[in-house]
Amino acid sequence: MTLLPLKEYKKKRDFGVTPEPEPVPGEGGGRAFVIQKHQASRLHYDLRLEAHGVLKSWAVTKEPPLEPGVKRLAVQVEDHPYDYIDFEGEIPAGQYGAGTVEIWDSGTYRPLLEGEPDKTVAEAIERGALKFSLAGERLKGKYVLYHFDKKGRNWFFFRMKG
Ligand code: MN
Repeated sequence: MTLLPLKEYKKKRDFGVTPEPEPVPGEGGGRAFVIQKHQASRLHYDLRLEAHGVLKSWAVTKEPPLEPGVKRLAVQVEDHPYDYIDFEGEIPAGQYGAGTVEIWDSGTYRPLLEGEPDKTVAEAIERGALKFSLAGERLKGKYVLYHFDKKGRNWFFFRMKG
């Protein structure tokens, strides 16, 4: 896969002025997110961000924060296929994740890769920190995923001030 940085396109434009789309590194324009409320053996909220054709996924252990000041534990789980983005329904008893899945929020996100315009979302996740803005029905504003437990899969998920 070629991650075209679109340098020439960007060099010619001031995205603070032009209404033309600002390219998002490595994203090919697709920046969907979803949060699925998953009533499994334990209730959690699956946060999924589209990146490079898959959904990078975290199980948030409590309701995602609408406002700054609340940190949620978010356990990174396996990438999910893109088509999972609109999945709702019943996972049958005996199957992995058995229980009810309903979409709790959805919309678009924009990675905030300050100072590193050619870094990709995958690289940011690999390095353990991703800032992004969410434009969902419930969640709006700037959020952070921060990998605080480098030997495990535990991240914090919280809304930034401002
Ligand atoms: Mn789940």
